[in-house]
Amino acid sequence: MSTPAVEFAVRPSTRPLPAEQRDAILAAPGFGRSFTDHMVTIKWTAEHGWHDAEVRPYASIPLDPANMTLHYGQSIFEGLKAYRRPDGTVALFRPDANAARFRRSAARLAMPELPVELFVEACARLVRQDLAWVPQGGETSLYLRPFMFATEVALGVRPASEYLFVVIASPAGPYFTGGVEPVSVWLSQEYVRAAPGGTGEAKCAGNYAASLSAQAEAARHGCDQVVWLDATERRWVEEMGGMNLFFVWGSGDDATLVTPELTGTLLPGITRDSLLRLAGDLGHRTEERRVSVAEWRANAADGTLSEVFACGTAAVVTPVGEVRSAQGDWTVSGGSTGKVTMRLREALLDIQTGRAADPYGWVHTVA
Ligand SMILES: *Cc1c(COP(=O)(O)O)cnc(C)c1O
Repeated sequence: MSTPAVEFAVRPSTRPLPAEQRDAILAAPGFGRSFTDHMVTIKWTAEHGWHDAEVRPYASIPLDPANMTLHYGQSIFEGLKAYRRPDGTVALFRPDANAARFRRSAARLAMPELPVELFVEACARLVRQDLAWVPQGGETSLYLRPFMFATEVALGVRPASEYLFVVIASPAGPYFTGGVEPVSVWLSQEYVRAAPGGTGEAKCAGNYAASLSAQAEAARHGCDQVVWLDATERRWVEEMGGMNLFFVWGSGDDATLVTPELTGTLLPGITRDSLLRLAGDLGHRTEERRVSVAEWRANAADGTLSEVFACGTAAVVTPVGEVRSAQGDWTVSGGSTGKVTMRLREALLDIQTGRAADPYGWVHTVA
């Protein structure tokens, strides 16, 4: 059975933000504070499947107090960016990969799986509708936030029979305004992000809710971010906050890049996947394997571990400097930003922003 085509209705805003106000926002957008004039919504019901796709004015969504999401948390999301390129075109970075992951997240939370083409079309249509909101220059972008939640009104515990898929967009400035600075991290030994058999691989709202007390604990210890360890032994390094980690052994062209393997409790990042590919093509050895806290500490001390960085869509690549834990503190590469980190950061951003050609087919032009 083939899925019937879903037609998009377009209902432009009658009250878009005046251009001067929009330009003032675009001059210093920050992250996730301002939203564009439109959003895309697509409904799903058990009876009708995907239907009522609409590009419409950005607006509140009415919420019944017995909305199932509020009680049982069927809520998943994605994050991806559209960049305005030097040749004037606007392109999304690997939207098909986000679409595929969104389907896997949906499956894990017993939610309906949106077809990849529909996800990509929804993102592309929103960018085209709000093209004037895509910032120009530097490392600025239009951040897209596709998400889906249950809309059925009922308190019985079971998968809902109605959902809403939504895409909203928010202009994003460069993540680092005063140069790329390493973050400090707290090793969380009390809290875990994900356990075997849990939802660690799914990009679901609940994972973030569960991470907030650990993040607060990290802040209490004077750290910028929390580092997650495995739930079973508290011995293996998994992720940093909402980002994947890379470890660099050796230096220069001989450096080997190691990233924790996807054991089922890590979120499979698209930035992680892209960097593995890029690093290999830049001549580095790459490995996906487990990395222990003991190894991190000992090899930072003897200097064989030269750099550590985190990666994800929002910040792209962030160096990690100081590590603090209940067992003591240590520093990687004297707390400065490493060369391999910067080289990979540039190589990826060059492709994303259109400063360099894309030999991988990652860039998806939408306008
Ligand atoms: C989204 C996310 C990442 C990064 O994924 P990207 O696709 O690279 O943005 C890493 N870890 C967690 C927990 C996440 O939620």
